[in-house]
Amino acid sequence: MAGFNRVILVPLTTHGVLEYIEAVSVKLKEILSEVGLENIDVLVWPDVIKPPMKCFDWNRVQYHAGCLAKYIRDMFQVIGVIDKSLVVGVGYLDGFEYGLNFVFGEALPSQHVAIVFTKRLKPEFYGDSLNYNLYFERLIKEIVHELGHLLGLEHCTGNCVMRFSNSIVEVDEKPMFFCENCRERIRSYYISRTK
Ligand SMILES: [Zn+2]
Ligand SMILES: [Zn+2]
Repeated sequence: MAGFNRVILVPLTTHGVLEYIEAVSVKLKEILSEVGLENIDVLVWPDVIKPPMKCFDWNRVQYHAGCLAKYIRDMFQVIGVIDKSLVVGVGYLDGFEYGLNFVFGEALPSQHVAIVFTKRLKPEFYGDSLNYNLYFERLIKEIVHELGHLLGLEHCTGNCVMRFSNSIVEVDEKPMFFCENCRERIRSYYISRTK
């Protein structure tokens, strides 16, 4: 597989995404630099890519994560930027995967693509009051987590953003950074891909 030199953040909705995405890209760049991947650019795709209805499940009223990830993958393959990029779609949507009631995100590392669903990251979803900083923090954590998968990481049991979380409490409990082990792994993965 070819190496990559950029991360492309793709807004899948206007609401809940566009007002945060520039700040997210800056923070992401910072986190990647701290890991030693300062050569990777973090870009924001200039258009909102509307999720296709074929990925929407009318019974569950949710999007199928795998379907959406593949759709984004195919689209960016056609555009011709997928080989040098890691693409992360971010949408104020609710997503599921078979066997799970919902997912915060999903990554297809071999396909260079991941999706983050943010509807369940909003404090309002749980009846809590609006909180810009908390939502932003959760956004970063879930995007960094899925990006970690694209950078070759599995789940981690340390004090680490790669800790598996399937509840908002677990999201809030984990840090937004990689542990030292995972940092080391990312560096060697990146070096192996850019040789
Ligand atoms: Zn994960
Ligand atoms: Zn870790």
